[in-house]
Amino acid sequence: MSTATIADSARATVETALDTFLATNDPTKMDNIAFRGARFDAGLAWVHFPVGHGGLGLRPELNRLVEERLRKAGAEAQDPSTFFMALAGPTIVTHGSEDVKKRFLRPMFTGEEKWCQLFSEPGAGSDFAGLGTRAVRDGDEWIVNGQKVWNTLAHLGDWGMLVTRTDPDQPKHKGMTYFAIDMHSAGVEVRPLRQITGEAEFNEVYMTDARVPDSQRIGEIGEGWRVALTTLMNERTAIGGGGGGNAKRRGPIDETVRIWKERPADQRDRAHLDQLMRLWCKSEVLRLTNMRAAQAAKAGNPGPEGSIAKLMLAEFNKKVTEFSVELMGANGMIDYDYTFRRPDNLSVDGAEGGVRHSFLRSRANSIEGGTSEIMRNILGEQVLGLPGEPRVDKDLPWIKVPRN
Ligand SMILES: Cc1cc2nc3c(=O)[nH]c(=O)nc-3n(C[C@H](O)[C@H](O)[C@H](O)COP(=O)(O)OP(=O)(O)OC[C@H]3O[C@@H](n4cnc5c(N)ncnc54)[C@H](O)[C@@H]3O)c2cc1C
Repeated sequence: MSTATIADSARATVETALDTFLATNDPTKMDNIAFRGARFDAGLAWVHFPVGHGGLGLRPELNRLVEERLRKAGAEAQDPSTFFMALAGPTIVTHGSEDVKKRFLRPMFTGEEKWCQLFSEPGAGSDFAGLGTRAVRDGDEWIVNGQKVWNTLAHLGDWGMLVTRTDPDQPKHKGMTYFAIDMHSAGVEVRPLRQITGEAEFNEVYMTDARVPDSQRIGEIGEGWRVALTTLMNERTAIGGGGGGNAKRRGPIDETVRIWKERPADQRDRAHLDQLMRLWCKSEVLRLTNMRAAQAAKAGNPGPEGSIAKLMLAEFNKKVTEFSVELMGANGMIDYDYTFRRPDNLSVDGAEGGVRHSFLRSRANSIEGGTSEIMRNILGEQVLGLPGEPRVDKDLPWIKVPRN
């Protein structure tokens, strides 16, 4: 059977599953949680996940088809406060035990349980494998002590994807273990951190003798680095794939074009028009690259190529929003509310505060999910096959690595 025929039969399977599902589940008449629960049970949550865990075991690009059909039928868009589902879901389905998958995937998908990511530490960001949050075994539980930082929406999180050091005598990439931690459990404290937008979208998280049952471990003991890579690859693809728009919508460049059109005719000079056209072309390249990457994805988890879109999007967003604010002249600097606030959602698209907000928020794009320098290192080494950077502490036991 040719690849095209296999792809067509997979598409037909999804179309049939959607017809059957929509015949008895009307999103305009059902509560959103109940609708998403039924969608999970029908295997239409993540079609590339296994049957019984929200999927149909098919190719991931068919998720787009599901999304389009359900939106057309009146289903609500995914709540942005559940963004971390795109990271935790694939991590759990790839590395979690059957019990872990059963416990976490469905309420994650319905939005009844929200997730956050507890990776970065004050001394471990780009070099995340150097982290020092300790988990020590105590019978059927682990006792966790340490500090995480920059944890987006952790103040809303019910569960945290937590990576810890369980064996300090191993080199840093070994001896790490991954858990789901209950954010409401004793010993877990979440403190807000304010960004230049005025919002405290992210937080510090302190864990003091917090207890995590071993049944909430994701992956084997000492395999935390490998499990975390699944999260990180999916994070880069989720960030990179989100902003380039889709076949109909082009993302932030649309707003820039609108601002340009509203400028008085005598201010629409050729130099700015030239800049606008260059940005528009870049935006198209980003959009088409994302569509091609989605089609090329074979199954399951994305590879290092996911860093291409993440890098392009981060750098593009900074440029396009900066240009929009420049076009606005003095207006670009006023009428923005810098008041401290703790958002109840991700505000990356600048819905609140418009382009002034997007301009400030876009500064974080080249840091969150891995910096642009780190994306270039990944692409250079893992995609282009260039020589790696010197890593002098790679084989040293973590405990012996000099740190502040
Ligand atoms: C808005 C936002 C949201 C975030 N959300 C989360 C979250 O939810 N959960 C979470 O765990 N973390 C989160 N982070 C943290 C983020 O992952 C880290 O900030 C990021 O990985 C960089 O780490 P760092 O801040 O410690 O900087 P550092 O690693 O200290 O880097 C400082 C500078 O040195 C450069 N650099 C470092 N190493 C190299 C190298 N080998 N080669 C070249 N240059 C290098 C970096 O590019 C950077 O410019 C978030 C960050 C932001 C800004």
